[in-house]
Amino acid sequence: MSERLRSVLVLGGGSAGWLVAALLAAEHPELTITLVESDEVPIIGVGEGTWPSMRDTLRCIGLSEAEFVRRCQVSFKQGSRFDRWIRGDAAAEGDRYYHPFMLPVGHGEADLAEAWAATQGHRPFADVVSPSVQICEAGCAPKQLQTPEFGAVANYAYHFDAGLFGQMLREHATQRLGVRQVVDHVEGVLSQPDGDIAALQTRGHGALAADLFVDCSGLASRLLGQHFGVPLKSQRQVLFNDAALPVQVPYAREGHPVATCTIATAWAKGWIWDIGLPTRRGVGCVFSRAHADEDEARAALHAYLDATGAPSERAAPRLIRYDPGYRERFWVKNCVAIGLASGFIEPLEASALALVELSAQRLCQELPMPRAAMATVARRFNDDFSYRWARVIDFLKLHYALSQRDDSDYWRAHRDPSTWPEALRESLVMWRLRSPARHDFGRIDEVFPAASYHYVLYGMGFRPDTQPLSAAKLQAARACFDEASRQARRFVPGLPGHRSLIEHLFKSVP
Ligand SMILES: Cc1cc2nc3c(=O)[nH]c(=O)nc-3n(C[C@H](O)[C@H](O)[C@H](O)COP(=O)(O)OP(=O)(O)OC[C@H]3O[C@@H](n4cnc5c(N)ncnc54)[C@H](O)[C@@H]3O)c2cc1C
Repeated sequence: MSERLRSVLVLGGGSAGWLVAALLAAEHPELTITLVESDEVPIIGVGEGTWPSMRDTLRCIGLSEAEFVRRCQVSFKQGSRFDRWIRGDAAAEGDRYYHPFMLPVGHGEADLAEAWAATQGHRPFADVVSPSVQICEAGCAPKQLQTPEFGAVANYAYHFDAGLFGQMLREHATQRLGVRQVVDHVEGVLSQPDGDIAALQTRGHGALAADLFVDCSGLASRLLGQHFGVPLKSQRQVLFNDAALPVQVPYAREGHPVATCTIATAWAKGWIWDIGLPTRRGVGCVFSRAHADEDEARAALHAYLDATGAPSERAAPRLIRYDPGYRERFWVKNCVAIGLASGFIEPLEASALALVELSAQRLCQELPMPRAAMATVARRFNDDFSYRWARVIDFLKLHYALSQRDDSDYWRAHRDPSTWPEALRESLVMWRLRSPARHDFGRIDEVFPAASYHYVLYGMGFRPDTQPLSAAKLQAARACFDEASRQARRFVPGLPGHRSLIEHLFKSVP
């Protein structure tokens, strides 16, 4: 049996690099983990919305939730709210739906979608099948003050300040998990005769050698893209957004309620995210440069800020440009790319950090491996993650494809089936006949499970065209709807306000 890999070098100190380094160090204390980051290349500094998987990730690396909340300006995210995506109504209240993280009551057991369409189709799907919407609208936290760390009454993820998150991970990984940090700029790659990377050439620390290299160098994709020349598979023809204008704005007054979901508001040529943190909001306008120029996007962002109580005159958003897509392969020779270095589509539904977590977990499972096994591990990794990226793209496109908006070429192009991925086109034909089922999403650890498709499909106004249900099936589904209402009546008065939970956790840390 050949010798197993002993050392890993992570290139890049953004959220991806530090998450990978921390997870590897926590799971594999026998490995030597080094992270090199440049003080000349800033981190992207956005990426404030997560997926519930982040709770397991933080627990796994040994962080306390209260410490995390205190240090990273954390709020609790129970899902996303979509305003003006269906018709683009002037009044968002009538053009709104939720994608909560909580599964529908009776999901996978009762014929919820069919029964909802037959009996309650005038009400939004999520309102009928889950107590989450009422919890979010009432501004409640997803757990009690006494609920144990990472435990939930309603499923949740987090919003946080990306810069603070990176700092906390760096400190935790270096001081408690034994990761060695090198602050230096990588100028070159030294190769073995067989094409493996032997070392990264730095400006001040010489050559840094390792057995395995993880490219977390951000959009530059320094190793996978630049050194190995693996092309980006552009998705511009499917998901047109390729620029964003993020900005941080204060609340209108102290003690303002903190939203417990990401608010995504569509505009004529893109959409705007709004994430509430305890002391500020993070807002950003996402758009397609083929359909809108920067001035139009700035005007849309400013109009939104003015309308939501954050006067725009002092807001100075910076422009981020990117090519939406993912690499043709992620693992080549002894190098694997994770985070923006592997691809980026757009911020909708916060899939990027979830993919970082899945990639890092997979790496943890494969290590320590002998070099001889790496080609097989790489081939399987590449297959699995190509599949995951393709599913993420289907799911994101669903939000646009089903819109009835007709107020710009942007929306008309999104609605045109020729811009839909083939798999999504096929699925939509099937989902007219029956609702999405678990077997439509065949792999373990799907980024977006069937329940997510239910919420978005039926939230966007899609209706299953099914045969009438038997009386027994209708009754079983109705019992689930009743249970969801009962839970809402029980949880809403029993849960603390969102801000109260955050303040409680702030105080609970010494
Ligand atoms: C507009 C926008 C909104 C987003 N919103 C979300 C969201 O809500 N949720 C979500 O999950 N994700 C979101 N993302 C994605 C998210 O920001 C990233 O996935 C996450 O921050 C990880 O970034 P990263 O670590 O890969 O790259 P970066 O943060 O860019 O870090 C790159 C690192 O590489 C280092 N580096 C680069 N070149 C060199 C070199 N030559 N030598 C040494 N070091 C080098 C840099 O110094 C830096 O430390 C968003 C992205 C964008 C663009």
